[in-house]
Amino acid sequence: MKDCTVIGGGPAGLNATLVLGRARRNVILVDSNEARNKVTSASHGFITRDGITPSEFREFAHQEFSQYPSISTLEDKVVEIIKKADGFTIRTEMGREWATRKVILATGVKEKFPNIPNLRNFYGKSIFNCPYCDGWELRDKPLALFGEVDYTFHTAEIVRNWSLDLVIFTNGKELTISHEKKMKKLDIRVETSGIRLLTGKDGMLQKVELENGLVIERVGGFVTPELVQASDLGTLLGVKLNETGGHHSDEVGKTKITGLFVAGEASNVYPAQLIIAAACGVKTAMAVNVELIHEGILGSEK
Ligand SMILES: Cc1cc2nc3c(=O)[nH]c(=O)nc-3n(C[C@H](O)[C@H](O)[C@H](O)COP(=O)(O)OP(=O)(O)OC[C@H]3O[C@@H](n4cnc5c(N)ncnc54)[C@H](O)[C@@H]3O)c2cc1C
Repeated sequence: MKDCTVIGGGPAGLNATLVLGRARRNVILVDSNEARNKVTSASHGFITRDGITPSEFREFAHQEFSQYPSISTLEDKVVEIIKKADGFTIRTEMGREWATRKVILATGVKEKFPNIPNLRNFYGKSIFNCPYCDGWELRDKPLALFGEVDYTFHTAEIVRNWSLDLVIFTNGKELTISHEKKMKKLDIRVETSGIRLLTGKDGMLQKVELENGLVIERVGGFVTPELVQASDLGTLLGVKLNETGGHHSDEVGKTKITGLFVAGEASNVYPAQLIIAAACGVKTAMAVNVELIHEGILGSEK
């Protein structure tokens, strides 16, 4: 029986796995390799790793795992978690099955984009979702902000820190009076017409073509998608979602289902940062280890 199964190999799951492996826990990391940051070529803001590609980040982690016999990894998708008296049974898409005492769900989130034609062609190349991640590269450039939600107007105020040349595109949604007042005060231009097409080359935005005939030149920008859980494994076991859209848990990721923990964006959707997800994975791994110790199960790598 595994001490712990970590589901999801983003920063949260990777760091949880490392800490558990070093705690002599027989841990398996299962990852379907569908991280949402795959679309970008550089990740920023993680000290000592600024500018790293998402694939390098994962490769380095797996290299570090290789010195710990306590860690095994599997590229597969978990399709079912069955609660048992002494833990869980895990089932995967490729037909594997095993027993585990504890589970950490580190399955991340996925984006629900506003309905803008061909936005995805530019996402991760010149259009991003977080100014702290990619604002530096876009500083002082003519930027677009695409979004139809309240949060868009909050983001606009933040993005202004990196470039004052900003146009918000609401894609057909009218502004509330308070948003209109706020954007006027901040001197941010807002276009409410529907978007006909984004044009550019190799993912680099050049123009935003509107249904009202206007064509506005922009070289990149941001979008405010809705972020929803990537997996329903937790909710199927009976864990509710909290107000941020993460799974309900305590501050170390322990859910109301005995032995089931959550980490990274499976736990807290915001702020979405690699280093925050990784730190969350560390905290949760420690909590799993302590719970096993309290149950009288010491680490032994077996
Ligand atoms: C375009 C873009 C650019 C970004 N740039 C930056 C940046 O520059 N700096 C920064 O700090 N952050 C950046 N981020 C945010 C960062 O990627 C996230 O905050 C971070 O990856 C969240 O980590 P996580 O471990 O919670 O989830 P994820 O990294 O999303 O990992 C979840 C993993 O779980 C796996 N999974 C899901 N379901 C299953 C299942 N059933 N079975 C097995 N595996 C499963 C997925 O395949 C995935 O690999 C960016 C995000 C995007 C989208």
